[in-house]
Amino acid sequence: MAPTLIGKQAVVIGAGMAGLTAAGALADCFDQVVVLERDILPSEAAYRAGTPQARHVHALLLSGQRALSELFPGFEQDLARAGAVPLRVGLDVRMERPGYDPFPQRDLGWFNYAVSRPTIERIVRKRVESRANTTLRQRCRVLEVLASPNGEAVTGVRYENGSGARETIVADLVVDASGRGALTLALLQSIGRPLPEETTIGIDLGYATCVFAIPDDASTDWKGVMTFGQAPQNSRGGLMLPLEGNRWMATIGGRHGDVPSGDAEGFLTYARALRTPTIYNAINHAKRLDGVARYGFPDSVRRHFEKLDVFPCGLLPIGDAICRFNPVYGQGMSVAALEACLLQTLFEKLGEKGNPIATLAPTFFAEVQTLIETPWSVAALDFAFPETRGQRPADFETTLKFGIALTKLAAEDPAVHKLTAEVQNLLKPRSVYRDPALVQRVFAKMAEA
Ligand SMILES: Cc1cc2nc3c(=O)[nH]c(=O)nc-3n(C[C@H](O)[C@H](O)[C@H](O)COP(=O)(O)OP(=O)(O)OC[C@H]3O[C@@H](n4cnc5c(N)ncnc54)[C@H](O)[C@@H]3O)c2cc1C
Repeated sequence: MAPTLIGKQAVVIGAGMAGLTAAGALADCFDQVVVLERDILPSEAAYRAGTPQARHVHALLLSGQRALSELFPGFEQDLARAGAVPLRVGLDVRMERPGYDPFPQRDLGWFNYAVSRPTIERIVRKRVESRANTTLRQRCRVLEVLASPNGEAVTGVRYENGSGARETIVADLVVDASGRGALTLALLQSIGRPLPEETTIGIDLGYATCVFAIPDDASTDWKGVMTFGQAPQNSRGGLMLPLEGNRWMATIGGRHGDVPSGDAEGFLTYARALRTPTIYNAINHAKRLDGVARYGFPDSVRRHFEKLDVFPCGLLPIGDAICRFNPVYGQGMSVAALEACLLQTLFEKLGEKGNPIATLAPTFFAEVQTLIETPWSVAALDFAFPETRGQRPADFETTLKFGIALTKLAAEDPAVHKLTAEVQNLLKPRSVYRDPALVQRVFAKMAEA
């Protein structure tokens, strides 16, 4: 269906993954799309201050890869041209879980790409910049979202440009993809509206990352490794994936104070103490290409915008501004891209009606719940560690036992393995685990224990 024009100008705050994908979705439906980013945007794939997490492993799930290909046809070819490393799902990443070192390696029939976050962002940025009606303005820090005097509708934003001058830009739609969503909350406060309730899961994660040259004698049995600790006593884990340029990026970390130090020696000492020696043995003699980057992630946060009775017309928070997931499960970029696809679908649906912008936010908040539900339910598994803060689900012990039995079944049966990979990659909802035939088999496994 041909997209309908629903407004003159849309402004997107932030050129991270949520902002760029949203801009891609908006370009067909607005005369002009302007993306305002506080950072200088590098022409090459380089780290920048506004996204410090980009220095750490960024796995792109299959759902995210597909969503990005839908928004930007040819995206996978762009990845391949940029040197991204194809990984056969189920086979090329050695998964080490307690009781399975490694988990059976099987080619599940798909591949996804391993690549650095700056390269993914640069590819998507170039696609967004190539749209004739889309402009990326760098060094523009948004100071506030502007609303009509009665607070019912958003009218634009005020920002500070690279020379320090303050400017105003009008907009029919403002998309807050600033990560923290602070500008949306500040607006709600300033117009006297209630803030959304928040659900938080306190995990106090500490990450450290190093990049290495892949040595000539590297293992040929795997291209990447994921090592889990043993809950509840050992929260230490690691993920090492290949990057473009024949490099490995190794991210290791733990929770609640058991976190790596920021020096190279401390990094190796921590890696040596992981539950298995695979990552340590691989990097011990490998050439380190960079310093150690660290990141602290206190909690996963879900904001319940869907529960608000009223919300200013023409404002839409998206990406991490709605929900920040535990990064260990590699979901944030994929959820952001899926949200942009949802936005595109909603524009097609709502575009035929009277004032699509008026109904956009409530419809989006309602429909995005289905999308968030599965990744958020994975985040709830963090309660396996007793120090985790937040509301522990009532039936959590059963959920854990079910998960352990499902893992056993997946190890034995390739079809169940494939199903769990589909859920982990957000291709299917977690509700597929409620299939009666599967539940019966899982219960039988639980009874064996
Ligand atoms: C340590 C770590 C590891 C992660 N690993 C993964 C992973 O493996 N896989 C995965 O899919 N996801 C991962 N994520 C999550 C992922 O980075 C985010 O979920 C994803 O990038 C979507 O974020 P966003 O675009 O909403 O926000 P961000 O990526 O934070 O982007 C926000 C942008 O807004 C800009 N900005 C902020 N304020 C303003 C302002 N006032 N004016 C103008 N611009 C502004 C910032 O400079 C930035 O460019 C990880 C996150 C962390 C913290």
